[in-house]
Amino acid sequence: MADNCNQHSVEKTDTSNDIDIARIVIVGAGLSGLTCARNLTRLLKKRPHQITIVEARDRIGGRTFSIPELNLDLGASWIFPDHTAVRALANELGINKLEQYEGGMSLVDTMNGTSRPTSMGNIHGGAKRLKGGTGSLCASILNELTNRNEATVNIQLNSPVTSINYNDDKSITVKLHDHHSIMADYVVLALPPKLLISTVQLTPMLPSSLIEQLKKCVTWMASTCKAVLVYERAWWREKKLSGFAVSRQLKAQEWHDASSATCNALFVFCLANTTRQQVIDATVKIFGSDAENPTAVYITDWSNEAFTSSSVNDGRGGHPHVTDVCRQAYWNGRLWLSSSEVSDTDSGFLEGAVTRGIQVADQLAELMFKEKTKSQNGIDV
Ligand SMILES: Cc1cc2nc3c(=O)[nH]c(=O)nc-3n(C[C@H](O)[C@H](O)[C@H](O)COP(=O)(O)OP(=O)(O)OC[C@H]3O[C@@H](n4cnc5c(N)ncnc54)[C@H](O)[C@@H]3O)c2cc1C
Repeated sequence: MADNCNQHSVEKTDTSNDIDIARIVIVGAGLSGLTCARNLTRLLKKRPHQITIVEARDRIGGRTFSIPELNLDLGASWIFPDHTAVRALANELGINKLEQYEGGMSLVDTMNGTSRPTSMGNIHGGAKRLKGGTGSLCASILNELTNRNEATVNIQLNSPVTSINYNDDKSITVKLHDHHSIMADYVVLALPPKLLISTVQLTPMLPSSLIEQLKKCVTWMASTCKAVLVYERAWWREKKLSGFAVSRQLKAQEWHDASSATCNALFVFCLANTTRQQVIDATVKIFGSDAENPTAVYITDWSNEAFTSSSVNDGRGGHPHVTDVCRQAYWNGRLWLSSSEVSDTDSGFLEGAVTRGIQVADQLAELMFKEKTKSQNGIDV
């Protein structure tokens, strides 16, 4: 089953108390948190530091969630042509792209319960998938961080953060669900803002102007259920169908080809709480009896994922829009927000996750060097 390398988990470690070692805690091992860690380790080569990434789930990747050996995705699938930061990242990590198949006719359901073939050009706008799925971005970054760097990064899985305190001595206490605490000098919050504000207690409170925005910031795709149906043959291609279909009457709503050299598959966007049988029945209704017997069905209902969605309506309302209030640092430069949702470009997408992770790393590293210089000159920071 899907697995984004949880074997890289390391034992919980106490971060160093050495005052010269900057202790950074990143909350969330999704694409944004991992990209931020990757860039920080590169920028901080000359600044002693220790990064601890604390992840609630038993896996890394967040909303990228793949079955790597089948090149299948239960979370994000596509990299769009104008998403240059995530494309560059995939290139740097040596991850090959896969074409998104869309040859042939598509199907649209009709009010009388049948489906009508329709010719649709350029359905996916040139979007590509990734070999190993988009989870391979996170798996490759983790591999780089744990194997190639000089042990400056720890990852702790199964560790939901429940509260974060900014202390009088300017240190930060990050508390986990098991009451274990990690001390830090800087904290990067790389989880969806709406989830942050409803599940993590922050003391002192952040400004109300910020909290208002975080509460309203929809988590992209958090109310979606995604299913993948694997078949022995790509029978839709044999019938000159693209595999793309749309229904606005069924709980399963949008089908796409998800085949590659390793399997023949359709993936389906569904409404929250769609069952395995409802996906199969809907696929049969749209495509006919060929769809009856998938050899495997994988399904992830993101609306029920406690570490993505804060309510069933979380992802409704399109792409999130927040202002620079969400992109400032708080607590005297000690607290930063990094998640796709707060990106100033392509928020909600993989591109936003990468762009924001890079931006936070750049700004935080710059601040850390400034603070280091000041403290070397005897100035209180
Ligand atoms: C079904 C689906 C399809 C999508 N399709 C596409 C697509 O085709 N193209 C595209 O560009 N984007 C797509 N997206 C969006 C894309 O997946 C996200 O933009 C991106 O993965 C967000 O990364 P992130 O790091 O900001 O957040 P996340 O991936 O949500 O990572 C946040 C991390 O924080 C962790 N966490 C949460 N709470 C805590 C806590 N209290 N303590 C510690 N850790 C915590 C989570 O477990 C998670 O690992 C899709 C998303 C979904 C769900």
